[in-house]
Amino acid sequence: MRVYTHPACLLHDTGPDHAERPDRLRAVIDALRAAHPDLDWHEAPRASRGQLVRAHAQGLLDEVIETRPRERIQLDPDTVLSPQSAEAGLRAAGAGVAAVDAVLGGQARRVFCAVRPPGHHATHDTAMGFCLFNSIAVAALHALDQHGLERVAVVDFDVHHGNGTQAIFEHDRRVLFASSHQVPLYPGTGAIDEVGEGNIVNAPLPPDAGSAEFREAWARRLLPAVAAFEPQLLLISAGFDGHRRDPLAQLQLDAEDFRWITSELVAIANRHCRGRIVSMLEGGYDLEALAESSVAHMDALRA
Ligand SMILES: [Zn+2]
Repeated sequence: MRVYTHPACLLHDTGPDHAERPDRLRAVIDALRAAHPDLDWHEAPRASRGQLVRAHAQGLLDEVIETRPRERIQLDPDTVLSPQSAEAGLRAAGAGVAAVDAVLGGQARRVFCAVRPPGHHATHDTAMGFCLFNSIAVAALHALDQHGLERVAVVDFDVHHGNGTQAIFEHDRRVLFASSHQVPLYPGTGAIDEVGEGNIVNAPLPPDAGSAEFREAWARRLLPAVAAFEPQLLLISAGFDGHRRDPLAQLQLDAEDFRWITSELVAIANRHCRGRIVSMLEGGYDLEALAESSVAHMDALRA
C-alpha cells in the first residue's frame, strides 16, 4: 500500500494555538508507521500550475505561491500563509496528482495521502477554512482531464461540509460529490437541497449524532448514490473530526465508524472501479483520535 507525504507539509506554520497544526500530521504518520510498518512511503511531488489551474483561478495561485511572506499572514481569520505554506500546499495537491497517476497507471490499487494543509474548503478562487488549494478537486480533475476518465466520485466524511469541492463540481456531471457533515457547523453549506446538476448528495447530521445516524445516512442515502454513479475512480476526503474526541465539532463517532465507512467504500470500489481509491487526509484535530482513526482507515483500505 502506497502512501504519499512530504516533509514540507510539517513546515506550514499556522502559529501557536491553531487547531490545524503540524502535530496533527506527525500523529497520523507515527501511528501509520507503527501499525503498518510495511507501507510503501513516497515523497509527494509539487503540483504544477497547469494541474492547479484546472480547479483554481490564477489569482488564488498567485496569492498562495507568489506572496512569499517573511512571516505568518492571515488570509482570513482561520487561514494562515507562512513562509513554507506555498510549498506545503503544492506538495499536498501534488500528492493527490501523483496518487491518481499511480492508481490509474497500475502501480498501486489504493493510495493514502498523509498531507496538510487540508483542502476541501478551498473554492475556485478563495483559500479558506485552513485550506489553500483544494487538493481532492485537483486530483479529480487530473483523473478526468489528463487520464480521460468520465466518472469520478468524491466522497467526504469530514465533519465539515466540503463547500469548496461542491462549488468546484456542482456544474460538472463527470463528478459525483457525496458528503456527510454536521449542520449547523462551519462553513454553513451542505443542505440536503443543494444538489447541483443531480451530482451533489449531501447528508447533514445534527450535532451529537453518533454511529447509528452516521451509518444510516451513508447506508441509505450516500453509498447507494455512489454505487449508482458507477465511478471509474473513488476519491476520499478523509477527515476524522467527526470523532467524539474532536474539539471543533460535536458528532460522536469513533474509529470503528471510520473503519466501517472505509470498508463500505472499498466494497463499492471493488465492484465498480477495480478497487481504485485515492484517499486524502482532510481534518481531525484531536491527536489521539487522529492516530486511531487513521489506522482504522488504513486497516480497511488495505483489506
Ligand atoms: Zn473538518
